[in-house]
Amino acid sequence: VKIFSKVIDLFFPRSCFSCSDKLLENEEILCNNCKEKLKFFERQVCDKCGFPLKSGLCEICKKENYVFDKARSVFSYEGVIKDLIHHLKYDEKTVVVDVLAEYIENFLKEENYISSDYIFVPVPLHSIKKKMRGYNQAEVIANSIAKFSGNEVRSKIITRNRFTESQTKLGRSARIKNLKAAFNIQKDYDFSNKKFLIIDDVFTTGTTVNEIAMLLKHHQAQEIRVLTIARAKT
Ligand SMILES: [Zn+2]
Ligand SMILES: [Zn+2]
Repeated sequence: VKIFSKVIDLFFPRSCFSCSDKLLENEEILCNNCKEKLKFFERQVCDKCGFPLKSGLCEICKKENYVFDKARSVFSYEGVIKDLIHHLKYDEKTVVVDVLAEYIENFLKEENYISSDYIFVPVPLHSIKKKMRGYNQAEVIANSIAKFSGNEVRSKIITRNRFTESQTKLGRSARIKNLKAAFNIQKDYDFSNKKFLIIDDVFTTGTTVNEIAMLLKHHQAQEIRVLTIARAKT
């Protein structure tokens, strides 16, 4: 497959995944110009949810809204990184993750965020969506990080139910109930005293990862952290 992709590159040189006007060599996906434009997320953040903040806990976390113990993101969800994640999700360009892995590796080391006993849990996709896309991008990210960190990846302990009813047709309470039933946990797995790192591409409201954290905590998980490639600043 590697040789084949090299031959392809020879005849169809890759253009930059973000600005698309510069041709690249080898395994590159970003031109130097766009590489420099990659924006990292703030390092001074809320102790818990990772929202930009000088120190301590943000207003949301003071009210204890999140079940997970900590959430962190490597990049700010804008510009170049937005383009890369789009390629990853909708364009079968999983190569994006291999390039980002280096940045994620540095981040994890600098922040000393996880130890080797954290079990990676990628946020699952609906089975139909996964079939259509051919892969789950969160799983691709988790496996790529695990390649250098050596952590165990468990992509089947949390699965997503296929919604039987469309959300839009349901009333408010039914909708919440429907969302609550969105995930399944593997019942014969022993979660007690274990540490988990939930992995996803983008952190938006945190609702999805919090739902998973609730399930894990309910099954006696000891510590639950969240890592996403990017996060929107608002
Ligand atoms: Zn470029
Ligand atoms: Zn917070």
